[in-house]
Amino acid sequence: MSKPEKLIIDGKRLDGRGAQDLRPIKFKAGVLKRADGSCYLEFGGNKVIAAVYGPREVHPRHLQDASRAIVRYRYNMAPFSVEERKRPGPDRRSIEISKVSRESLECVILQEMYPRSAIDIFVEILQADAGTRVAGINAASVALADAGIPMKCLVSACAVGKVDDTLVLDLNKDEDNYGQADLPIAMTPSGDITLCQMDGHLTEDEFRTALEMAMEGCRYIHQLQKQALIEKYGQMVSPPAQEAPAAETAEVKEEIFKEDVEEFKEQEQQEQGGEANE
Ligand code: ADP
Repeated sequence: MSKPEKLIIDGKRLDGRGAQDLRPIKFKAGVLKRADGSCYLEFGGNKVIAAVYGPREVHPRHLQDASRAIVRYRYNMAPFSVEERKRPGPDRRSIEISKVSRESLECVILQEMYPRSAIDIFVEILQADAGTRVAGINAASVALADAGIPMKCLVSACAVGKVDDTLVLDLNKDEDNYGQADLPIAMTPSGDITLCQMDGHLTEDEFRTALEMAMEGCRYIHQLQKQALIEKYGQMVSPPAQEAPAAETAEVKEEIFKEDVEEFKEQEQQEQGGEANE
């Protein structure tokens, strides 16, 4: 598409969103049978699948770290994910995205628990529509949890940008192509930033506002990630046992104990009676 004259008309973006709106987001945890953990994510026009394998033994062995698990992250755009077929295989962009995405997640993974092992994260972009790196991180975070990898918390990510001199949340493809700035961030629920990149120019004030907008977006995405995990595991995890009031519990325990003692005594008597008869 050629550059539209305006990207914001009467306060609305070309896809109908307001400046602070995210695109529709849908997570599904545990979609691949053979991976240890996985997640499918639709994030606007992006369609992404993340798979996690591990912790498993590292090959080749010289890559092993005796004190912790190594984390590997491979971001890959399928040739059919963009309008013009993309040349398959890694390129500078995918190598950079793999590196920063790995770093954004590595810091929440309890790597020390699995020395000499590897945790492999694969992210496949099936359909790209701007914001694929943040979509990949969101899906990978859920896939790691689905794989049961011990983590301090989930990581959530989204981008903010500037188009027509206005800050907007979650750039779409045209906004990404023709906008003035793009600021993808990832963060933990407690607000620690684990990824912060920027294309283009923002003033210091704009940067602060943009960061706050992105953080608000991440907080919302975090709720959706948790929801996806609850949907998969909620009904499988047994609900917390209905705890009886403490006094009652103690009484019941005492009662059971007394019954056991009585039973034991009866058995003893029976056995002794039996021996006497013999
Ligand atoms: P992100 O997808 O994280 O926003 P970029 O800003 O590098 O990363 O890319 C923006 C968008 O540009 C991508 O989501 C994708 O839609 C498109 N794009 C990226 N690389 C290519 C490519 N090699 N061919 C066609 N489109 C691409």
